[in-house]
Parts: sequence; structure tokens; C-alpha cells
Amino acid sequence: MTNENQAPREVDIAIIGGGPAGLAAGLYAARALRTTVLFEGGVLGGQIATSDRVENYPGFPDGVGGFELAMAMHQQSEKFGMETVYARVTDLQVLEDGRFALRTDGGGDFIAKATLVTAGADPVKLGIPGEVELTGKGVSYCATCDAAFFKNMEVAVVGGGDAAVEEAVFTTRYASKVILIHRRDELRAQKVLQERAFAAENMEFLWDSVVEEIHGDVAKGQVEAITVRNVKTNEVTRMPMSAVFIFIGQTPNSNLLEGIVPMDAGKHACVNAWMETPVPGLFVAGDVRADAARQVVSSAGDGATAAIRADHYITDHF
Ligand code: NAP
Repeated sequence: MTNENQAPREVDIAIIGGGPAGLAAGLYAARALRTTVLFEGGVLGGQIATSDRVENYPGFPDGVGGFELAMAMHQQSEKFGMETVYARVTDLQVLEDGRFALRTDGGGDFIAKATLVTAGADPVKLGIPGEVELTGKGVSYCATCDAAFFKNMEVAVVGGGDAAVEEAVFTTRYASKVILIHRRDELRAQKVLQERAFAAENMEFLWDSVVEEIHGDVAKGQVEAITVRNVKTNEVTRMPMSAVFIFIGQTPNSNLLEGIVPMDAGKHACVNAWMETPVPGLFVAGDVRADAARQVVSSAGDGATAAIRADHYITDHF
């Protein structure tokens, strides 16, 4: 709990979010000998923590486990002096002297000369009946985490992007059948992932289709069926199903920045090539910024860029 009477801790650089962008920023900030605190209110590693394997991060010819990579990044950043506070930043204010006041939900209050927001993104929900009630009971946004619960069962994966296809292929290791349901007749995912999906024996594709309802028994904690509509014929089908994995994009965690920095239509913060916002000393990096490649390597690069610039900013202004 925050102690109201305790004076805020003063640090050089505050980093909000412990995914690849935040962890790389922490490494660079700490190695620049700035007092650096990283705030993480969920799981370190962000989206990669739940990725089975990361095969496109340079330096790992055989790929690396997402969680393993996140832990290694964190260990490296802490080795150079980054401190981790396991709390969520609930309020961010720009003070008159240009520093930032950060309030957390259990880690105390902080004042930082520069702040880097690397808060990542959360999964988009379908917004259909049954989705909320059955989340964690067969509805999941992380196949890497939950696919193993559905061994030898039939499951659905919704979406046609990299995440959906990658996670669907992973799920074929466990499920008897994986049905990938996509609203169009063509996948958005990278070709290499598509080829893997088309080659998987126990995978089927339901094109031009949307899931309209998820049925199940909340008390028993299980998904039992889904209602699917073909968007071209309007034909509605009820299909028995044991799980629904949903990968239809992400919403950036940019709430703290609302009213402080400009954003694009999708609520990603707009920054320049140095990850600078129009607010001096406030940087945004990784999936929460606009025009990002949304890869582990580019997020880490964003974080490093922001930290280097934040170090220069502190030298010039304080
Ligand atoms: P994404 O690329 O935005 O794909 C979202 C998918 O969901 C699209 O196929 C979209 O259909 C579909 N969709 C969106 N709203 C929907 C709705 N309401 N109902 C049904 N379907 C809906 O998102 P992502 O797959 O999460 O990937 C996000 C970013 O992370 C991308 O830049 C991706 O490259 C990256 N990523 C990379 C890897 C990797 O490199 N291994 C893995 C995961 C993610 P349409 O195609 O019709 O728009």
C-alpha cells in the first residue's frame, strides 16, 4: 500500500512497462549510470512472456522461449543497476519544473527527470455473448499459455494475423483439431507462418466467417460450442467446441498519456524517430507508439533509442 506521508522517491529515469522496449531501455539507462526504475504491474516480458518461441530475434538461430528471453533481458538490465518495482503506475503528471510525478498502486510515489512509457498493448476482445463469462474457462487470448489444457479436443482460433496463425500452429501440438476462423478468405499473416499453418495436418480453415456467440457452462467452467456466421451467405452454424483462442489485434496501453501527448486513431502515441513526444523528457517506445513494427527486435530498439535520448535530455536540462 502507498504510504501517503512518505516523500516521493526521486530518480533519473522512470520506465513504465517491462516488455522488450522497457527492458532494453532499462539496460541502456542503467548503463548510462542513471538511477533507473522500471514499473511492471503484470508479467515481465509483456507479450513475449506468453510466446512459446521467438524465432525472429537476432542471435538465436534455433529460436528462444519468449519467457526465457524476457527473463534474460530482465536479468541483464538489473545486473547493470536497473531497479524493478512490481506495481502499476496509476497516474502520471508533468510538474512545473519539467519533472514527472508518478503514482503507483502499491509501489509508492516517484519523481523522475525523464519518463519512458513502454506499456505495450492488450488483446482486443470480440465483444460477443459468452466471451467475458467464459474467459479463463475455455476462452483465451494466449494459446501458448492455455493450449495444453485442451489435449485431444477440438478448438477454434479466431483471426488471420501473425498472432492467430502462429498460435494456431502451436495449438496443433495439443488439440485433435484446430479450426482457424477468419473473417476474410485470405490470411494477413507472414507467408512463412501461413505455409506452416497450411502444412499442419490437424488444422482446418473456416473462411469468411465470424464467431457470433460462445456457449458453455460457466459453473462447470467449460466452453461447449460456438455460433459462427458466414459473412457472404449469412448461414449460421452451431459447432461443438472445447476452446476459443482469440487473436484479433491489440489495444495500446496508452491511458496514462491521454490528454498529454498526441495519438493516432488507434490510441497509439505519436513520437519522432528519437521516441520523443512533444512533452520534453517524455518518451514512448514499443507497441504503445504509433507506426511501430511491433516486433521484439524493433521494440527493444525503440527502448534503447528512447533511453539514449533520455540520458542526453537529462544531461542538457538538469
Ligand atoms: P493483426 O496483424 O492486426 O491481425 C489481426 C487479425 O484479426 C486480422 O487478420 C484481422 O482481420 C482480424 N480481426 C480484427 N478484428 C476482428 C474482428 N472484430 N473479428 C474478427 N477478426 C478480426 O494483429 P496480430 O496478429 O495480433 O499482430 C499484431 C502485430 O504483432 C503485427 O504487426 C504482427 O506482425 C506482430 N506479430 C508478429 C509475430 C511474429 O513475427 N512472429 C507474432 C505475433 C504478432 P483482417 O485481416 O480482415 O483485418
